[in-house]
Amino acid sequence: MMGDPAPRLAGKVALVTGAAQGIGEATVGRLASEGARVLCVDLDEKVRTVAEAIGNQAFATVGDVSDASVLHAAVREAEQRWGRIDILVNNAGIDGTPALLADGENDDFDRVIDVNLRACWLAMKQVLPAMVAGGSGAIVNVASVAALIGFETLSIYSASKAAVVGMTRTAALEYGRHNIRVNALCPGGVLTPLALSFMDEGTMDSWADKHALKRFARPDEIAAAVAFLASDDASFITGAAIPVDGGMTAH
Ligand code: NAD
Repeated sequence: MMGDPAPRLAGKVALVTGAAQGIGEATVGRLASEGARVLCVDLDEKVRTVAEAIGNQAFATVGDVSDASVLHAAVREAEQRWGRIDILVNNAGIDGTPALLADGENDDFDRVIDVNLRACWLAMKQVLPAMVAGGSGAIVNVASVAALIGFETLSIYSASKAAVVGMTRTAALEYGRHNIRVNALCPGGVLTPLALSFMDEGTMDSWADKHALKRFARPDEIAAAVAFLASDDASFITGAAIPVDGGMTAH
């Protein structure tokens, strides 16, 4: 009799940003349940509780991912603890202050671009040399349907996510020869603290209605897609921007 197959991510080491809540927290749980060891990074101290709940398969680093030294320290921590880095999930993100384009604040522009785009670039810069040296890697950049279609009052957010998709495609071309896959995931509405922060009940209903499935996603439904893209089951998928959006962009 054959035993159970090894978990899909057994032996892999992952770094997940924005891991304290929402999609990031669900992703940490999912990757760990599939056998990965996970370095969890977040601004919020709550990330320590998320890592502690997993046990010795996870470790938390608190800091701002738009600061290169925070990402450098996180990657070094993962390498020192577990000797390698196989998976990067660039998930930390902010929506900024909703406003019509002409009413947007310059500071808001800078902050949204710093967190959603610059940090994604910085994290890829940090892990790619180790992935090249190791001969493989999988990067999942959490973008948004806002990269694919317009959303009124979210022009800066939308631009940052479209830029993440562009960067993803180029990184996939540059690093495919090293067996490193780089993909973007474009969630629709997901019931997380971020989504709840800018929606009242009426907005929630009208947003739910924009999806073919007439509901928001649960964070674990997005985490399942992240785990798939990070795994060898997605071994021929790279440079893609994959909607996980309940049919929102099927219109
Ligand atoms: P969330 O606000 O619930 O969680 C985001 C996490 O990122 C938080 O723990 C926060 O502390 C952390 N974070 C924010 N800025 C950070 C920084 N500078 N450094 C370190 N950590 C930081 O958000 P979420 O809904 O889980 O979103 C996760 C990702 O998914 C984001 O990139 C978001 O744009 C994207 N997304 C979300 C939705 C949605 O409907 N919720 C839809 C599409 C895309």
